[in-house]
Amino acid sequence: MLKHKEPPGRSPEGEIPGGRRDASMSRETHTARRTCVGCRSVRPHHELVRLVLAPDGEVVVDLGRRLPGRGAHVCPKSLCIEQAVRRNALERAFRRNVSAVQADDIVGSVCQRLEEKLSGLIGLGQRARQVISGSTALEEGLRRNEVHLLLLATDISADQRDRWISRYRPTARPWFAHFTKETMGALLGKGLRSAAGITNPNLARAVSRVASMIQGLEEERKGVRMHGNDAHL
Ligand SMILES: [Zn+2]
Repeated sequence: MLKHKEPPGRSPEGEIPGGRRDASMSRETHTARRTCVGCRSVRPHHELVRLVLAPDGEVVVDLGRRLPGRGAHVCPKSLCIEQAVRRNALERAFRRNVSAVQADDIVGSVCQRLEEKLSGLIGLGQRARQVISGSTALEEGLRRNEVHLLLLATDISADQRDRWISRYRPTARPWFAHFTKETMGALLGKGLRSAAGITNPNLARAVSRVASMIQGLEEERKGVRMHGNDAHL
């Protein structure tokens, strides 16, 4: 299960403490807004997923927003994707016929690409020495206030989880649990890993965004909303 929470009282953009965002980033955030072709809400482009139509007629998920051709943006939500398909909004956006496209397939592709992206970011961070793991190193990182996103394995004990969270809580930064100890270790090129910390604020923000999208899709699939439980710092 994935648990992720923006700290209370912060905007979704607020993962970097102290508002240390540079001007170019703010400008981009203000200008680059797109409309979800499902629910028609206008959002910063990084909160939406871009879909493009491949030459063979397949709808492709373009998380990097770099693929050529006309794109359609959707919220990373099954409801929006279903709505877009039902209303032929993808065909209108692509200006081409989209034959027999299934909303479920698109949702599946979005999930898969987000998972790949999440794993890729963490692997990249490890290679760039922006992820610390192992109890001693992580405790030291927390003590020095270097951890901008805490990753907890899903299969650690409640006691272990609570211990990490209580040390991390004073930062008021987000944490999430998504991978098992084994997967997390494999991503980091290590043995089993119960917890890891991302030390680079930009990477932490990128991972947070992807994690939030995955969480949204998972919650939707389960039909539950996590309110007021222990995922909230
Ligand atoms: Zn939407």
